Amino acid sequence: MLEELRDEVWDANLELVRRGLVLYTFGNASAVSRQDGLIVIKPSGVPYEDMQPADMVITDLEGRIVEGELRPSSDLPTHAALYRAFPAIGGVAHTHSRHATAWAQACRAIPCFGTTHADYFCGAVPVTRPLTPEEIASEYELNTGQAILRVMGGRDPLGCPAVLVAGHAPFCWGSSVAEAAHAAVIVEELAAMAWQTLTINPAAVPISDALRDRHHFRKHGPAATYGQK
Ligand SMILES: [Zn+2]
Repeated sequence: MLEELRDEVWDANLELVRRGLVLYTFGNASAVSRQDGLIVIKPSGVPYEDMQPADMVITDLEGRIVEGELRPSSDLPTHAALYRAFPAIGGVAHTHSRHATAWAQACRAIPCFGTTHADYFCGAVPVTRPLTPEEIASEYELNTGQAILRVMGGRDPLGCPAVLVAGHAPFCWGSSVAEAAHAAVIVEELAAMAWQTLTINPAAVPISDALRDRHHFRKHGPAATYGQK
C-alpha cells in the first residue's frame, strides 16, 4: 500500500541524516496521501541504517494504524494534528538539529535578519509558549500540535513552514515530505545565521518589511516570479 509514498518518506528521513540534522534515532518525517486520507510515518526507534521503506507505518488521520508491523514514531499525534489543520501540506519533518533547537530551548523566535530567511518565512520563525503541566501529563504529543497551531494563527503554512516548540525543537512542513525535510535543513541554517548575526551585533534588527516582502513574494503566492515555471 502507498509504495511510492513509503519510498519518499524513507528517503526524506535519510535526508535528515545526510544533512547532519539527526543523531541516532532523533527526528522523524511523514507524508500524507490526501486521496486516501492516510499518513505514512517513520517507525519509532529503528536505527536509520537498518530502516527500509517497508518499515514505514501507515495510519489514518486520527493516528490509528492501518498497515505496519512496527510502532509509529511517538510524535505521530503532532504530525496528524498538522495534517488535519493544514490541507495544503503534504509532509512533516521534525528534528533536534542543534541551532534550531538552541533557539527553541531559549524560547526565542528566530528574527528575520536577512533575505535568506525572507525567501522562506514571511517574518520570524515563531516559537510556541511552553506547555502547561496539564498539557504535558495528558495527550502531550497532540497538545504539542495544538501549541504549534495556536502560534501559527491564521498564517499560511507554506509561507511559514516551521515552528519552534518551546523547550523542544522545530517541527517543519511543506507541500511534500521532501519539501518538509528541505524546510528542516533551511531552519537549521537560518538559526545558525541568526545566532551568528546576534553574536557579531547584539543590537541587530530584522530587515525592513519592504525587503522581506520583496523576497518572500518573489517565491510565494500568486505574483511569484522565481524559478522556471
Ligand atoms: Zn522531538
